[in-house]
Amino acid sequence: MAVIPVELAGRPYQVHVGRGLLENAAEICGDFLRKTIVPVVADENARAHHGDRLDQSLSNAGHEIAWYDVAPGEGSKSWRELERLTDWLLAQGVERGDKVIALGGGVTGDLTGFACSILKRGCGFIQVPTTLLAQVDSSVGGKTAINTAAGKNLIGAFHQPSLVLADTDSLTTLPPREIGAGYAEVIKYGILGDAAFFDWCENHGGEVVALDEQALETAVSRSVETKARIVAEDERELTGRRALLNLGHTFGHALEAETGYSSALLHGEGVALGMVLAARYSARRDLLSLGDAERIAAAIGSAGLPTEISALGLDCDGARLADHMRHDKKMDAGTLPFILLRSIGAAFLDHDVSLDDASAFLDEQL
Ligand code: NAD
Ligand code: ZN
Repeated sequence: MAVIPVELAGRPYQVHVGRGLLENAAEICGDFLRKTIVPVVADENARAHHGDRLDQSLSNAGHEIAWYDVAPGEGSKSWRELERLTDWLLAQGVERGDKVIALGGGVTGDLTGFACSILKRGCGFIQVPTTLLAQVDSSVGGKTAINTAAGKNLIGAFHQPSLVLADTDSLTTLPPREIGAGYAEVIKYGILGDAAFFDWCENHGGEVVALDEQALETAVSRSVETKARIVAEDERELTGRRALLNLGHTFGHALEAETGYSSALLHGEGVALGMVLAARYSARRDLLSLGDAERIAAAIGSAGLPTEISALGLDCDGARLADHMRHDKKMDAGTLPFILLRSIGAAFLDHDVSLDDASAFLDEQL
């Protein structure tokens, strides 16, 4: 087991990573659970598979869980669900000093975190992420949000959890594609800022997606450390440092938009392909060697993730994908910042990418 100390927004908290954490949840949470009744906001699938382990630990310590079920899917990150959840938390008598537990993937974590950020102007919460993506990405960093008709994650707040329990046993019940999608965000940390970790991923990526325990613990811990370090340098995304975490996301979002944000392309799969495109585009501009771009593609492909747009069978051209980019929420004063690469482990923010040039590049790739 690993315990990673994180300090964000001047608030220190711990991220526990390893097996069997749910069985010991009451002990790890300790004084954070100060009342008999503990509100747990849970994704229905996460509760069905792992709720009993949490329940057992808390009831052994004399607590009782008040469950709130979250239906799986992005639809739960809505105003309606936010209202329903905040009303329920108020009805439970949750006070600012209490800690609400979020059990589930990024959807549950984002919804619960945002509800807690506004409940009585901010109450505490504990993240218990049960997907690989949530363990390595959404549960760390303090971004919380819901979606609106105008787009994803447009309404939200920065609100850090008091504690994160990333129990790697909970990943064993995830569909393999969800593991792959989460792994895309893992290897992203290596590509953008940690060449030694990228080397590790080249050698151990197969073990991570096959759920080898030791490999999973290393992958999650290292990802959490890297994300926390980058976020600490730029918590509110003001200097551009935190923006590096969006490597692969500009191309990826365009592909997600083109596939209608459907299960045809999971977010992590879009990011995987988006990173390959960012690397190849960097090579096309003579910023990165072609050899490094293809090394990145090979490492991503060997985890079973997509590396060629042509494999998606899209009926569109580069201009259409560039048009999706024009609507990207990161568009700022008419320019879209792109994350490009100088070498593996050295990403940088480029404000001077022309969408026409990106479109011509995409035409070559399609
Ligand atoms: P998710 O929460 O939708 O979970 C994916 C699927 O797995 C769901 O069907 C869920 O029911 C199921 N599931 C969850 N845990 C399970 C388990 N242990 N066993 C079996 N099934 C399980 O998706 P996600 O990929 O975890 O998160 C995506 C969300 O995270 C998006 O809304 C995205 O915007 C958000 N996100 C937020 C941040 C952030 O910094 N706040 C970062 C990245 C992503
Ligand atoms: Zn992402």
